[in-house]
Amino acid sequence: MSEREGGTKMKAGEGGKKPHKNKPTSEKYKLYKVSGDSVKREAKFCPRCGPGVFLGGGLNRLHCGKCKYTEFNKK
Ligand SMILES: [Zn+2]
Repeated sequence: MSEREGGTKMKAGEGGKKPHKNKPTSEKYKLYKVSGDSVKREAKFCPRCGPGVFLGGGLNRLHCGKCKYTEFNKK
């Protein structure tokens, strides 16, 4: 019976490894605008999640997709 073990049980070389696709660059870079030597942030960071988590959202409010923090812009 043990002869069945050797052959077709596992495909060699396909050990669950996914091929690396070229991921599209993170969209976060769009939120930076470089002017001269200084980098200007277009988006605010979430005060709860800290730097790296941007607030997104509508016209007069900012919203963190991670912790649901919402900040309203005063006009
Ligand atoms: Zn957050």
